[in-house]
Amino acid sequence: MSKKSVVIVGAGIAGMATAIALANKGFDVTVYEKNSQPGGRCGQIERDGHRFDIGATILLMPSIYRTVFESLGLNFDECFELKDLSTIYKLYFGNGEQLVFSKDDAVMKPQLEAMEPGSFIRYKAYIKAGYAFFRDSYKNLLARNFYNLFEFTTLANVMMLARLKTYLRHSIFIRKFFKNKNLQQAFTFQNIYVGQSPLKAPALFSMLPATEMIEGALFPIGGMHQIALKLEAVAKGAGVKFVYNATVEKIETNGKQAKQLIFSDGSTKQSDLIVVNADLPFAYRNLLPDNKISARLDRKTYSCSALVFHWGLSKAYPQFVHHSIFLSKDYRESLDAIFEHQSLSENPSFYIHAPVRKDPNAAPVNNDSISVIVPIGHLDEKNPQDWEELKKLARSEVLKRLSAEGFTDLEDHIKFEICYTPVAWKSIFNVSHGSVFGSIGHNIMQMGYFRPHNRHNRYKNLYFVGGSTHPGNGVPLVLLSAKLTSERILKENCQN
Ligand SMILES: Cc1cc2nc3c(=O)[nH]c(=O)nc-3n(C[C@H](O)[C@H](O)[C@H](O)COP(=O)(O)OP(=O)(O)OC[C@H]3O[C@@H](n4cnc5c(N)ncnc54)[C@H](O)[C@@H]3O)c2cc1C
Repeated sequence: MSKKSVVIVGAGIAGMATAIALANKGFDVTVYEKNSQPGGRCGQIERDGHRFDIGATILLMPSIYRTVFESLGLNFDECFELKDLSTIYKLYFGNGEQLVFSKDDAVMKPQLEAMEPGSFIRYKAYIKAGYAFFRDSYKNLLARNFYNLFEFTTLANVMMLARLKTYLRHSIFIRKFFKNKNLQQAFTFQNIYVGQSPLKAPALFSMLPATEMIEGALFPIGGMHQIALKLEAVAKGAGVKFVYNATVEKIETNGKQAKQLIFSDGSTKQSDLIVVNADLPFAYRNLLPDNKISARLDRKTYSCSALVFHWGLSKAYPQFVHHSIFLSKDYRESLDAIFEHQSLSENPSFYIHAPVRKDPNAAPVNNDSISVIVPIGHLDEKNPQDWEELKKLARSEVLKRLSAEGFTDLEDHIKFEICYTPVAWKSIFNVSHGSVFGSIGHNIMQMGYFRPHNRHNRYKNLYFVGGSTHPGNGVPLVLLSAKLTSERILKENCQN
């Protein structure tokens, strides 16, 4: 019997993990990618001996990586040279205070007690509660397919959603544990990882700082792009074919089935199954004929976007730890500018990735490579922004803040700059609204069965995988998405 054929649109992390899972089960898989390298938002840039991860830089929730890699027949820890970061990150608050995040209680206790006497014991309780949310939601919400509404709305699930405190805002939940405003920010800002406001996200997302503190943060030498390269190599080994610089322009359907891909050069490719790893709302809007579904998706809430500056520096800055977070002194106002006005405040919060300390090959000797990520509003036709002006504002505010924190001469040592704006995320990776941490947001009405499904309701041979389908965005969740989508494909297309 001839093998069933599968074409995958996009060589992102989720597309490649799906390709491996299906090739391992005997499918004939080909991946088509519009750009020239694998990884999508987990890609990499190299220039003049400086190396930068384009998007993802923090490897969190290693337990999920391990589970998904194991399902692909791989031992995650043996695939990479992994460094366990003893300092997960250093937080700089707007008032001059600092906090080093570490799994080590001996590091945390004196810092927390100095900021708020008696807070260490409450910190332990907060982390315990957040990790219980993680375990519960992993088992009952994130790591399983929901094939119909009845499977999602069982009494057990309703009780689970109550247990996960989905009705309570994280910003209110945190007040049970800390009075100190800086500590409240320190344990809620992580909501931005999934592109949502720490002021509005549900308490469930306390699982983000909790998993950091329990499972730690790893760094693969060579950068996060190594994950993409490994998946590509394993996929090729399993017989998957990759075609780069191949932009899918349409998915032709016959009313009941997705028939074939049509490429920008006019060529076509038929297949038994089609898996779309490109952003899901983009695919409904641009590749498929269903305008009504697309209009419904347009009304969903989208995550925030990011301005990213990659700087090649002619001097080394050993003062930077691997990950640093600089929170705004006008924290609430800076979040409102992003999430209410789709813009940027004059005092933005930002994050810096400085990999050279753990990975000297990321820059030439005595040089440095740093990436600055500034969360910013997403593209919104009803509220257009002058992105070039906002980019200038972000750049000058970042440099001003760094100077105030002691990095006084950094600007003089910028040899070159590469910048990604929301417009670039949209045009390079086809991410709707440039909402790179989604694109679809992660409020509770857009999770589980309520998130766009990983199979098309009408075209039963058309599947989706990646950040905008179940369970959500971020490398661990898109890996899980690959596991869930391939499990569904196998269940629905194989006899036994
Ligand atoms: C600035 C930034 C920082 C981040 N930080 C982190 C982090 O620290 N940790 C973390 O875990 N996650 C992080 N993320 C999120 C993480 O990068 C993404 O969740 C993940 O890479 C998404 O993978 P994906 O496979 O779903 O989608 P993508 O990476 O978007 O892959 C989709 C692929 O489809 C291709 N494609 C699109 N349209 C077409 C078409 N028409 N034809 C052919 N190909 C097409 C795209 O080019 C792309 O390669 C970050 C993202 C960004 C942008």
